Amino acid sequence: MDFEFSEEQRILRESVRKMLDRVAPAEYVRRADVEGRYPEELYQAFIDQGLLRMPFPEQYGGLGGGIMDFVVIAEELGRKSYDFLGAYGTCVFNGLNIAHNASEHQKQYWLPKLLSGEIRMSISMTEPNAGSDAGAMRTVARREGDEWVINGQKVFSTGAGIKNNVINLYAKTDTGVPFQKGTSLFLVDNTTPGVRLRKLDTLGRRALGTYEVFFDNVRIPADRIVGEPNKGWDYMLSGLQLERIMTTAGYAGAAQDALDQALAYAKERQQFGRPIGTFQTIAHTLADLQTEVDAARLLMLRAAWQLAQGQDALMAISQAKLFGSETYVKVANQGMQIMGGYGYIMEFDMQRHFRDARVTTITAGTSQMQRNLIAGRLGLKTK
Ligand SMILES: Cc1cc2nc3c(=O)[nH]c(=O)nc-3n(C[C@H](O)[C@H](O)[C@H](O)COP(=O)(O)OP(=O)(O)OC[C@H]3O[C@@H](n4cnc5c(N)ncnc54)[C@H](O)[C@@H]3O)c2cc1C
Repeated sequence: MDFEFSEEQRILRESVRKMLDRVAPAEYVRRADVEGRYPEELYQAFIDQGLLRMPFPEQYGGLGGGIMDFVVIAEELGRKSYDFLGAYGTCVFNGLNIAHNASEHQKQYWLPKLLSGEIRMSISMTEPNAGSDAGAMRTVARREGDEWVINGQKVFSTGAGIKNNVINLYAKTDTGVPFQKGTSLFLVDNTTPGVRLRKLDTLGRRALGTYEVFFDNVRIPADRIVGEPNKGWDYMLSGLQLERIMTTAGYAGAAQDALDQALAYAKERQQFGRPIGTFQTIAHTLADLQTEVDAARLLMLRAAWQLAQGQDALMAISQAKLFGSETYVKVANQGMQIMGGYGYIMEFDMQRHFRDARVTTITAGTSQMQRNLIAGRLGLKTK
C-alpha cells in the first residue's frame, strides 16, 4: 500500500496552487460570486497551464495523465472555490466521457477543440419532472433525413449559457422501450436556433450559473449523436462516475479551506482574555472536523484509485460522494458557528462556503440516492 503521490503529482499540485493564488486571489473569488461573473481569466489560465489537457490521451491533444492527476487538480480548485472547480471539471468530465464513448472521428473532431479552449461543455440530464428519476426525461430527438430534431426542456444545466458552450444533451430517441435502451447523447451548440436559455438565481455557485434550457424544433446534423444511438444511458452512467469523483475531490479541498479559515479564526479571536480555540468545546469541534475531512479525502482517494485501476468503483464513489458532501456541509456550518457573527458577514468567506456547500448533497445525485445505491450493494432493496 502506497499513500504517496508521485513527484510529478506533487509538482502539479504546487503549480495549480501557485497559479490560483496569482490569478484568483480572495477578491477575485468574491467578485465572481457576488456579481455572478464567469471566471474567464482563470479559464484562460487552465488552458495556458495545460490543466485541461492533463487527463486526456496524447493522440487527442492531451498530456496522457490519469484520474489521479484529475483529482489533484480538482481538489486544489475546490479549495479555492467549488464553483471554479465546476468551470474546469464540467468540461473535463464531459470531454473524458466523449474520449471513452464517442467514435474515433468524433474524438478527433471534438477533443482538440475542447482542450484548446475553442469550446466548453456542459451537461443536461435533469428536467422539471426528471431529477433523481432521470429515466423519466421527456426531451425527445427524432431523426429526419440527415438531421436530428430535438424538442423538450432541461433544468439546472450548469454553465449551459457560457460563451462557445456545447451542451451534452441526453434525450429519448426511442420512447417505445425502457429508458435504458432508448436514450442517446447529443452535442448541441448553445447558439443553435431553437435553443433558449434562462439563467436561474441561486443561493450559491453563482459564477458559473445554472440554466433552464428549452429546445424548440432544434435541428442538428446527424453526426452530433455521440457513439451509437440508444446507448446514452450507459454513457451517462460512466460519465456520472467521473463527475462524482471530480465533485468529491472538490468537496475535500473546499472543506479543508473552510476548516483552515475556522481554525485560523479560533487561534486569533480573543474572548474572556484568551483565544476561543483554547476553549475545549471549540478545540474538540475543530479536531473532529479535521478528522472527518481527512476521512472524506481518504474515501475520495480510494474511489479515484479504484476507478484509475479499472476496478468496479461504483460503491466507493457513492460512499465518497455521500460522506464528502455531508462533511463539507458540516464544516461550513460549524465553521460559521466558530466564527460567531463574523461568519455571517459577507466580508468573510465562510458564508460563501456555507452557500456553496449546501447544494453538494443535492447535485450529482442526492445523498438519499447515494444511500440507496450503497444499500443496494449491501443487498438491501430500497424501492
Ligand atoms: C446548482 C445545481 C446545479 C446542477 N447542475 C446540473 C447539471 O449541470 N446538469 C444536470 O443535468 N443537472 C444538474 N443539477 C440537477 C441535480 O442533479 C438535481 O437537482 C438532483 O439530481 C435532484 O433532482 P431534483 O432536484 O429534481 O430533486 P428530486 O429528484 O425531486 O428529489 C427531491 C427529494 O426527494 C428525494 N428522493 C427522490 N427520489 C428518492 C428515492 N428514490 N429515495 C429516497 N429519496 C428520494 C431526493 O433525495 C430529494 O431529497 C443541478 C442542480 C443544482 C441545484
